[in-house]
Amino acid sequence: MILCTQIKSLTNILNHTRKRIHFVPTMGALHKGHLSLIASATRPDALVVCSIFVNPTQFNQSYDLSSYPRIIDKDMYLLKDAGCQVVFIPSSDEVYPKHVEVEIPDIEETYLLKTLEGYFRPGHFEGMLQVVNRLIQIVKPQSIYMGQKDWQQQLLVSKLLKKYYKQVSIEVVPTVREEDGLAMSSRNMRLSPEERSKAAHIYKALRMTAEQWKIKRIEELETRAFHFLESEGFTVEYFKICERNTLNPITEISKGEQAIILTACWLNKVRLIDNFLLNK
Ligand code: AMP
Repeated sequence: MILCTQIKSLTNILNHTRKRIHFVPTMGALHKGHLSLIASATRPDALVVCSIFVNPTQFNQSYDLSSYPRIIDKDMYLLKDAGCQVVFIPSSDEVYPKHVEVEIPDIEETYLLKTLEGYFRPGHFEGMLQVVNRLIQIVKPQSIYMGQKDWQQQLLVSKLLKKYYKQVSIEVVPTVREEDGLAMSSRNMRLSPEERSKAAHIYKALRMTAEQWKIKRIEELETRAFHFLESEGFTVEYFKICERNTLNPITEISKGEQAIILTACWLNKVRLIDNFLLNK
C-alpha cells in the first residue's frame, strides 16, 4: 500500500495507472463499515484509493471536531490488511491551500440540503460537498463508494455527480452493524460501556417501526419510537419516515412509495444516526 500525503505524489501515481480508480473517502478511525467499502471497491481492474481527512468545514460544533477520534497507525494497518492500494492522508493546507478559494458546489437541492441532518447540523452538508468535490477533482475516480449509513449524504453526493461528474458512478454499500444491531460508527468509541449497551435501542426502535409500518398510522409510529428512545435516555432530534430518494415526509402509505426511516439522537455527548429501508 502506498501512502501519499501530497496531491503531487498522489497525482503522479494515479496518472500512471491504467486501472479504474475506485475511491473511498473517509475521516479515519476505521471500522468494519469502512472496510466493507474497501471490499466492495476491490476488483481486478481497479485501483482502490482511500482518503483519510477529518474535514473541518463539515463540523458545525468545535467539540465534535476536536474530539473526533484520530488513530492513523491503526487505520493504516487495517487498510493494508483489507487490500487498499493507495491511501491519501492530506493536511488541511493541502486540501484548503491558503489564497485559493475552494468552492462549495451549487447542486440546487435546497430541500435535501436543509432537511433532517441539514436542519440539525447547519453547514454540515455544504462542508461535506466542498470536500467531496475537491477530492473528486484530485483523485479523478471512475467510481466512488459510500455507506448507506449516511443516507442523506449519499443522496447529495449522487446529485453532485449527476450535475458535475456524469462519468463518475456512486456505489452505496449496506450498513455494517455490531452484533446487537448498533450501526458501526467512528463515534461509537466515545460511548461509555453503559451508553454503548443503550445505543442498541436505536436499531430496536427502527426494527419495531419497520415491523409495524404497514399496519399503523405513520405519525403514531414516529411518535411512539421518539418517546421510546427518549424514555431510554436519548435526546432525539428526529425519527422520520420519508420517501427514500427525495426525503419528503410520508404521511400515508401509498403503493408506489419507497420509504426509509431516518433517525438522529444524542446519548449524552455523542450524536448517533441510523436508518432502515422499508419495502412495500
Ligand atoms: P466517515 O469516516 O464517517 O466519514 O465515513 C466514511 C464512509 O464510510 C461514508 O461513506 C460512510 O457512509 C461509510 N460508513 C460509515 N459507517 C458505516 C457502516 N457502519 N457501514 C457501512 N458504511 C459505513
